[in-house]
Amino acid sequence: MRSVDPTTGEELATYEEHTPEEVDAALERAVDEFAEWRERPVQERCGVLVEAADLLRERSEEYGELMSKEMGKPIEQGVGEVEKCAWVCEYYAERAPEQLADEVIGTEHDARTLVSHEPLGPVLAVMPWNFPFWQVFRFAAPNLAAGNVGLLKHASNVPGSALAIEEVLRDAGAPEGAFQTLLVSSGQVDSVIEDRRVKAVTLTGSELAGRAVAETAGRELKKTVLELGGADPFVVLEDAPIEETVEKAVHARTQNNGQSCIAGKRFVVVESVYDEFLDRFVDAMADLTVGDPLDPETDVGPQAREDLMEELHDQVERSVEAGAEVALGGEPLDREGPFYPPTVLTDVPLDSAVACEETFGPVAAVIRVPDEETAVEVANDSTLGLGASVWTADLERGERVAREFEAGCCFVNEFVKSDPRVPFGGVKDSGYGRELSRDGIHEFVNRKTVWVD
Ligand code: NDP
Repeated sequence: MRSVDPTTGEELATYEEHTPEEVDAALERAVDEFAEWRERPVQERCGVLVEAADLLRERSEEYGELMSKEMGKPIEQGVGEVEKCAWVCEYYAERAPEQLADEVIGTEHDARTLVSHEPLGPVLAVMPWNFPFWQVFRFAAPNLAAGNVGLLKHASNVPGSALAIEEVLRDAGAPEGAFQTLLVSSGQVDSVIEDRRVKAVTLTGSELAGRAVAETAGRELKKTVLELGGADPFVVLEDAPIEETVEKAVHARTQNNGQSCIAGKRFVVVESVYDEFLDRFVDAMADLTVGDPLDPETDVGPQAREDLMEELHDQVERSVEAGAEVALGGEPLDREGPFYPPTVLTDVPLDSAVACEETFGPVAAVIRVPDEETAVEVANDSTLGLGASVWTADLERGERVAREFEAGCCFVNEFVKSDPRVPFGGVKDSGYGRELSRDGIHEFVNRKTVWVD
């Protein structure tokens, strides 16, 4: 497995893939450790998360730099991501004891009826490269707290991050079998899912990978949580405060070099503010600095891999052929590395690639609509349903529109973001299940009914 810096093309490190025998030994360790780990008091398991939070904060620069090098994330965003991982560890360290406590239910007057929350065992996490630390910690923190043990199959282009996560949890006091990285290719995932020692699977990534993993897990009757792609609408109504809305629109689209499942991708703008929004949006996108992700001045680094940038550019080209106009960008930058400039497409046909598919890069599709009703129709006209946002001065109206969106995470006057305190996940082809909050910690537990008559 190779870790390659997308900025320079330089090979950073190579790693030997784990052999089937090594994977087998890891699964055995996971099962052995599960028997011990689940018996530890929840406060003790949470103590490991508190320690992990401290270590993550201490090492945020180091791990931020690692992500910049492995997948091109601007350094400050990487440091912020590591700090957010510390937050999710602390959140569950504080809240898990209450979230996992028995729920007593009143039934017959003399019966004691309750729901307990028992861990399931080893859970496999198949994870993507775009938030190499965050995606893993939002799985690891609740599951370790719940008494499960984790097996990580990280994306093949971020093995260094995968091993660093294993290291920080180990240093925080997690026993070896409680969280292990499997250095395996996607071709080996099926056999891990099929192994009887693995009890459930969570995947964050593309729809294709989600369907493949769910198919295998379904045959094995193992529970899955799928967090797949998004084509989030960013709806601007006529009473939106334009200056602030544009500032947030730029951030929503270009965060993480545009490679976020919850990035604003389809900017659906009501006619009366369309021109003003577009002018300001194009100017602000043009002002972004594209460059070396290790330079703190950089807003947008390289795309994580050459093939991903080519796929993005193909989406732009197909959309232009279908009738979209390029208001900004639209061609890979003439420099070494997969650098794609902030790009704005207008007059986007609703059946073109940038309107229908997930665009994983700094490419914004701006769509003009006559009114709120059409805005909601266009927003919901997607096979995906991860997040959505609406921008308006009228909060009641905003809440009403948010309730009309067919998506899992809907925001008014804020771009879609994940936060440990609220559930995160999608509907339609964006997947199912929820991460984070109380919902997230309950995904992989046996909610056991105990009735004492
Ligand atoms: P993938 O979905 O291919 O990769 C995500 C994870 O799934 C990786 O660990 C990958 O392993 C694994 N995987 C891929 N295919 C299979 C399979 N058939 N069976 C089991 N595991 C599999 O994402 P990519 O990195 O290739 O990115 C492609 C597209 O996916 C992006 O353009 C974007 O649209 C979407 N994506 C969405 C993300 C999100 O957060 N929702 C995150 C990342 C990507 P390996 O790396 O070894 O192939």
